[in-house]
Amino acid sequence: MNSVPEPAKVKKINLLDFDRKGLAAFFVGLGEKPFRATQLLKWIYQEGVTDFDLMTNLSKPLRSYLAENCCIETPEIVVEQLASDGVYKWVLQTHCGNRVETVFIPEEGRGTLCVSSQIGCALACTFCSTAQQGFNRNLDTSEIIGQVYVAQNRLGKDAKVTNVVMMGMGEPLLNFDNVVAAMNLMMDDFAYGLSKRRVTISTSGVVPAMRRLTEVCDVSLAVSLHAVRDELRDELVPINKKYPLKELMEACRENAKLAPRRTVTFEYVMLDGVNDSLEDAYGLVELLKTVPAKINLIPFNPFPNSSYRCSSKNRIHQFKTLLNDAGIVTTVRKTRGEDIDAACGQLVGQVKDKSRRHLKLKLAGAENVA
Ligand code: SAH
Repeated sequence: MNSVPEPAKVKKINLLDFDRKGLAAFFVGLGEKPFRATQLLKWIYQEGVTDFDLMTNLSKPLRSYLAENCCIETPEIVVEQLASDGVYKWVLQTHCGNRVETVFIPEEGRGTLCVSSQIGCALACTFCSTAQQGFNRNLDTSEIIGQVYVAQNRLGKDAKVTNVVMMGMGEPLLNFDNVVAAMNLMMDDFAYGLSKRRVTISTSGVVPAMRRLTEVCDVSLAVSLHAVRDELRDELVPINKKYPLKELMEACRENAKLAPRRTVTFEYVMLDGVNDSLEDAYGLVELLKTVPAKINLIPFNPFPNSSYRCSSKNRIHQFKTLLNDAGIVTTVRKTRGEDIDAACGQLVGQVKDKSRRHLKLKLAGAENVA
């Protein structure tokens, strides 16, 4: 019996892949008015409506066009864990079968969502377990904003995502366009409406992308510093070989100029006997002399086969006091969600094909860093 060949499936356009500007261009391309974009954003992000038929302020022909050709699809929660301190970790399955992790950290008066930007990571920071996973691909905009969408849906009325930190798996600035579009949605009044102070991007220091970011998207900046000398930073954060401290600091100064009273947050992981001497603390004061800075000390979170140990509580306290006394506002990041491996540097997801790491580094122009 001859079987009838199946018609080729045309991939539907996921509308979560567009920020407002992208959606407006999409609608104009269909011969519609650009304001359809704000109508659609409101349905999706504020009303939680994903059935095009219910979007009653769109014309019937437009609704049926969207139903036929478009979709509203997020990654799917496959594992949910709740830590003893109220932290949630969700493992999300992407359309290609890989998994990424998203963490919700409730605090007095706010709820911070830690969002992933890539499947794995192409950088090879020696103290980070995501780095051991290798790299598969960049997340789409829909998979990044989709993390906020599924988290808020799952939390329902119990809690609200009030802050987002791009500090999950991956280097967000190596997935520039998709991350910027997702952050635009986080801050868009017709989507999540978070203020720019409540959306933070954390980078290991991809200097050209930091400069581009300064031009296109005004969010809070955190820089993973971790060392004050190039020699040590080359080892801990190998992208430093490509963009050494001098260039990194210059990019930070430019970012701080965006607005009066703006500060850059510097993250500094506390590694026993590696970067935690008092000389390092004085070096930090010297290095940050010309940048409006805050420092966030992160106690190292161990993971299997890691060769580092966390600095002692005493040393972290000394470091903090010394920096504060020198006039730099310094806090110690509370380690949360440890019992479910949801703490900084412990997010691993499931990265199937890691072979593209080399390719990605080439694309990023960072082939000499790993
Ligand atoms: N790639 C980005 C964002 C991801 S990591 C960046 O480098 O900034 C978020 C923060 O957790 C970074 O400051 C990172 O250096 C830190 N981190 C990574 N592994 C860690 C670990 N094992 N313990 C504590 N902090 C860690």
